[in-house]
Amino acid sequence: MGFSIGIIGLPNVGKTTIFNAITAVCAEASNYPFCTIEPNIGVVPVRDDRLDRIKEIIKTESYLPTTIKFIDIAGLVRGANKGEGLGNKFLSHIREVDGIAHVVRCFDLPEVVHVEGSVDPIRDIEVIKTELVLSDIEILDKRIEKLAKVNTPSSKKFLEVLKKLLENLNTGISIVEKDKLFATLNDDEKSQIEELNLISLKPMFYIANVSETEFKENKYLPKLLEYAEKESKDVVIISGKLEEEITQFEESERLSILNEYGIEKEAIDRIIIKGYKMLDLITFFTTARRELKAWTLKRGEKAIKAAGKIHTDMERGFIRAEVIHYDDLIKVGSELKAREMGLYRLEGKDYEIQDGDIVYFRFKV
Ligand code: GDP
Repeated sequence: MGFSIGIIGLPNVGKTTIFNAITAVCAEASNYPFCTIEPNIGVVPVRDDRLDRIKEIIKTESYLPTTIKFIDIAGLVRGANKGEGLGNKFLSHIREVDGIAHVVRCFDLPEVVHVEGSVDPIRDIEVIKTELVLSDIEILDKRIEKLAKVNTPSSKKFLEVLKKLLENLNTGISIVEKDKLFATLNDDEKSQIEELNLISLKPMFYIANVSETEFKENKYLPKLLEYAEKESKDVVIISGKLEEEITQFEESERLSILNEYGIEKEAIDRIIIKGYKMLDLITFFTTARRELKAWTLKRGEKAIKAAGKIHTDMERGFIRAEVIHYDDLIKVGSELKAREMGLYRLEGKDYEIQDGDIVYFRFKV
């Protein structure tokens, strides 16, 4: 199962435009059997220059990049938590994703109606955040009510945790620092919290959608950047419309158009880099049967878990992982030489996979 990022925001802020731009660019690369799998779900390959270089050395025929799923979640408006605009349905979609890209409108365009009547990024963010927090509060309320009926020492302790969380949300501290919270909990409590799928605990970054001519200077940006910094959140500045318009061109042409506007990388790459960072992900590679594949893993995960990503049999019958790091392979330039130099290591199931590891799993079932 891959990782997913939900694109959220008020109507008419450019969510679908950005989603289309990202998925259209990936659709052109024909060896990807994924991309838009449903109108609002796109599986986007993660471009990685390392794949080309490994392919040259290991001489595989082709390669398969790893992917991230993007979901265009429409329909969040004021009152969503009360079911306004199919709000509950969309809120439940947000619960399913691993992380959130919150699109904020920073472009003026009178013909594109703003549901709140004017362009005001901070107000917009707060409208959305209020809906998200209210819907989390509802979930917490229900859980607390249930738990209050159970009377064991551990349930009492967990009840206090939930009450504290609720208090934070109620007093407007919507950015609950998950790491800090989890540092105080045991494994069972952590998994109980995870099961609640609270949106306030999900990692999030902002996408500022600006007009192409305002990429470098936009009157709304300073405030947004300041706001995001206070929340320790990142902002990716994108011109959704421009990115969508250029999808009809080849990659090199797209880049030169973007460069003219002072934009160095395509939205797809900048969003994926941010998504990777936000979700704390790494990429490892496998080359079994001369098929080069990239896979995504949470940083810190062990070899046994990585094996399970590929096949449950590999996890069950795990014996060892044979590992060489990308940098080492590139340095010596050949598999054989790397073997002669002892650069392939044998690692056990508890080995923490590193970004750039090239791994061969030995297993027996
Ligand atoms: P959504 O409701 O958030 O999914 O918004 P859409 O992506 O459907 O965009 C709403 C309208 O805004 C469309 O007419 C877009 O062409 C326009 N739009 C989206 N992004 C931009 C942008 O970066 N600049 C300008 N000028 N218009 C945009």
